Amino acid sequence: MTSTVIKNFPSAFSVLLLILGCGGPSDAPLPLPAEPLEPKVMDTHSNARPNEARITHLDLDITVDMAAERITGVANYDLEATADRIVFDTDGLSIERVSLADGTEVEFELGDSTFLGRALTVHIPKGTKRLSIAYHTGERSSALQWLSPQQTADRVHPFLFTQGQAILTRTWIPVQDSPGIRFTYNASVRVPKELMAVMSAANPTERTADGAYTFRMEHPIPAYLIALAVGDLAFEPIGERTGVYAERSVVKKAAWEFADMERMLESAEALYGPYRWGRYDVIVLPPSFPFGGMENPRLTFATPTILAGDRSLTALVAHEMAHSWSGNLVTNATWNDFWLNEGFTVYFEHRICEAIYGADHMGMLSVLGAQDLMATMERLKAEGHASDTRLHLDVTGRNPDDAMTEVAYEKGCAMLRTLEAKVGRPVFDAFLRNYFDTYAFQSMTTERFIAHLREHLLEPNNVTFDVETWTEGEGLPADAVMATSDRFKLVEAEIARWTMGTKARELATKGWTTFEWMHFLRHLPATMSTEQIKDLDEAFGFTASGNAEVLVAWLQSCIRNDHDAAYNKLDQFLNTVGRRKYLVPLYTDLIATEKGRLMAQTIYRSARSNYHAVSVRTLDELLAWKDSKPPARF
Ligand SMILES: [Zn+2]
Repeated sequence: MTSTVIKNFPSAFSVLLLILGCGGPSDAPLPLPAEPLEPKVMDTHSNARPNEARITHLDLDITVDMAAERITGVANYDLEATADRIVFDTDGLSIERVSLADGTEVEFELGDSTFLGRALTVHIPKGTKRLSIAYHTGERSSALQWLSPQQTADRVHPFLFTQGQAILTRTWIPVQDSPGIRFTYNASVRVPKELMAVMSAANPTERTADGAYTFRMEHPIPAYLIALAVGDLAFEPIGERTGVYAERSVVKKAAWEFADMERMLESAEALYGPYRWGRYDVIVLPPSFPFGGMENPRLTFATPTILAGDRSLTALVAHEMAHSWSGNLVTNATWNDFWLNEGFTVYFEHRICEAIYGADHMGMLSVLGAQDLMATMERLKAEGHASDTRLHLDVTGRNPDDAMTEVAYEKGCAMLRTLEAKVGRPVFDAFLRNYFDTYAFQSMTTERFIAHLREHLLEPNNVTFDVETWTEGEGLPADAVMATSDRFKLVEAEIARWTMGTKARELATKGWTTFEWMHFLRHLPATMSTEQIKDLDEAFGFTASGNAEVLVAWLQSCIRNDHDAAYNKLDQFLNTVGRRKYLVPLYTDLIATEKGRLMAQTIYRSARSNYHAVSVRTLDELLAWKDSKPPARF
């Protein structure tokens, strides 16, 4: 996933220097796969007991009722069971019937409701190999966001998408919802015939006549990577293996924006080995999607806020694509190990961007990421959550979503960058390539990674590196190799000129990229006069910007300086966009004053029903929302 940033602006970006042509060890022979971890690591965020019985394959057979906002169907499972019961995760589901392969109904019970949902315990004869669960979703199925036609780009048909990470797939499928449990899946999905369905699987490129679709994911994946979207979708190819899905009015624009996708895929393969999933496509969702992107296998789910019109925000595609290796191929075994997904992915994302756009671009990306990291660590310390600045988290007893901050992303990346600096890029690339090959389609714990790191990188290369300080320690270790950017120094010089009185339109901003504008906006004085704000806006048109990164950074400055003229735009943005990375800093800045707090409450009252449940959960807490009657879908 991209950028979960809580409470500080922008995120998820970051650097490295390139030695083009060092090529990477792409000729290295494939190592033998390692022994899998199973059974298994204790996952405190799942009720499943995989050492007793676990699922190995899912045949999902569902009907999507857009009008009733309900999914009804049967989940059929292949099992490996040594005990006489199997435990599933559910949350907000109505279980109608559980039966064996021959149709015999079996007893089941639902446990107490906790933040993990309700455990579904099914009593099975020993040796049971197949089980069917008939169920339907309810109003509290938080993974699902049902959008009315007015909430879509084309405004004609309704839309549905799911968001599984971290523990939400259990809200639309009864499943063993642990990242350490992998299974293959097929699905039959029926939707209204004017709509198309796509999943994290092999997908159609055209609508069927009857609204019936079948899907197949032949590689074992964890439950959080099952995903479904239903809408009036069109498909536009980009390269041989790449393409984009979106609503009709968006798809051409998206295909233009993502023109580099095929090259990105080739660059990724040159770095860390073959792409193992077949096709790589992106679906651009309506603006309420709560994240930048979600790395659902074969089909990244993405926010339309990356359609900047100048291809400047496509690092997000590189990020989600990189997850095809780090995250989807080698997966964090528990949410405590989340940095193994995200830190590796940010590092990999930067390497892809560097290969395509050059070292300067990468330098800026990296410095922005470091700024996010520092801000996040300061905030966590100030809020008494210093232990969440560790890479190896302890999220026991909490919703994992609450601890998924920039630390996993940017500190994780910094650790890999530091290791790279110690051993040199060719050696480090060979190590990573071997790591992905060795543990392909397996789960990884922090402990197991550390053992692998010692054995395959540190010891053979005689490197001194204090792994525990990095993974278990708080804050940023002293030996961290952090990025710098000469181009940002030029930006800082222009800010200095402006604060000394040079008019904005006379500043030397020609050729600046989005990153330079982001750096500029982040480093404007905290307090500015109305004249100064007008001077900037007249010269650069920030309030009218179609680039969400630029616009949000600008709106933050406007809020902090109570610049009334920007409030219409702010209201419109908050009522349209549901990406949490933008909502949190904007609302946070608003509630810093009494006037802003009132405005935040007013806007949130109307906008809340446009947001996905993961954004609502965060914002309800941030705004101390007391409306006792939540929208029905939550
Ligand atoms: Zn990610």
